[in-house]
Amino acid sequence: MFAKEWREFNETGELTDTLLSAVWEMNNKGYIEHKNEILPYMQKLGLLADMGEQHNKWYVPCMNKIPFPASSFTEYPASSILCYEFDVLPAGIFHRLVATCIQIPWEFFSDEDRGCIYQTVAIFVFPDLHHNIMVGMTKTDIQLQVFVTEGEVDVSTCHQIRDRIESILHNLSNTFQNNSGFHVAFKCKPAGFCDSKESAVIKESKFTRATFQCPSCPARKKHKINSSDVTKYWKQEQQKKDVDKEGKLESPAERLERTPTDKELLMVSRHIGAIFQLIGIGLEVDSATVEQIKIDYQSQGVRTQIFKILDTWRKKEGRQATVRKLLEVIKDFRGEVDFGEIERVFNP
Ligand SMILES: [Zn+2]
Repeated sequence: MFAKEWREFNETGELTDTLLSAVWEMNNKGYIEHKNEILPYMQKLGLLADMGEQHNKWYVPCMNKIPFPASSFTEYPASSILCYEFDVLPAGIFHRLVATCIQIPWEFFSDEDRGCIYQTVAIFVFPDLHHNIMVGMTKTDIQLQVFVTEGEVDVSTCHQIRDRIESILHNLSNTFQNNSGFHVAFKCKPAGFCDSKESAVIKESKFTRATFQCPSCPARKKHKINSSDVTKYWKQEQQKKDVDKEGKLESPAERLERTPTDKELLMVSRHIGAIFQLIGIGLEVDSATVEQIKIDYQSQGVRTQIFKILDTWRKKEGRQATVRKLLEVIKDFRGEVDFGEIERVFNP
């Protein structure tokens, strides 16, 4: 009786809530009883995403088999193509990236009444409702391109989009900013999104000259590359932001090895909720101390209590109380806290 819904699920990955319930009902009553607990957990893992109230549907990215109609998008003004090359592309990371973007929430770019989401590419509308974001995967990398339907692509919007996508990727691949499982490369032309026949992937380190000849395209299709045309969309403005209060430049690596400031601990405490006692234990602040802090600062609210626990850890550990250590402990609880937000405190 669910033949049509099943067919749709098997082609598009879109799963109606009724079909989901029916399947679980058939297989094992245990699932359905715990549906309300299992579903949020599956969402956290990026196995499925809520398509929003009015759809009353779930999206299961790995079931989508619709091919990407590249030619529908070639006419629009677009940025260059940024590639995240992985040593080994972790299984499912693209699907989890898409599921995370849906839950930001970013709306889908639409093709008539359908959201543009295909087997290997998903297209979202940035909240400025002007820029559109294509994320896609090949065998070895995840690609990112921004396009507009009219006017020009704004460079600083691309920087913001890169920051957001990168922070999600770090979160999903379990890495920190200065120690990632991937490196950045660019396509030699703005054409050929997720298509190796149209254009080639060139490592970021090769873009040292203002102009150079494409090292990767075949002999009969050589062309000149203007470095800034490619890289301007994706420059990270780290240098400006990394100047600390003494006007000294701080690298991401240095930041991980130093002690967090009061302000940073306060910002972190904003993103830690009810599980702060567990984080206290993870930081080896003993439970008697945690209990005492709860009593002493009860009237000042949970956030002050969390701050005091983090501060106790910092005082106790001295120079061993590094940003890296703090992030490692909190990361163990990333199912319960928004780890991306906490990481952003240290990578503004
Ligand atoms: Zn080329």
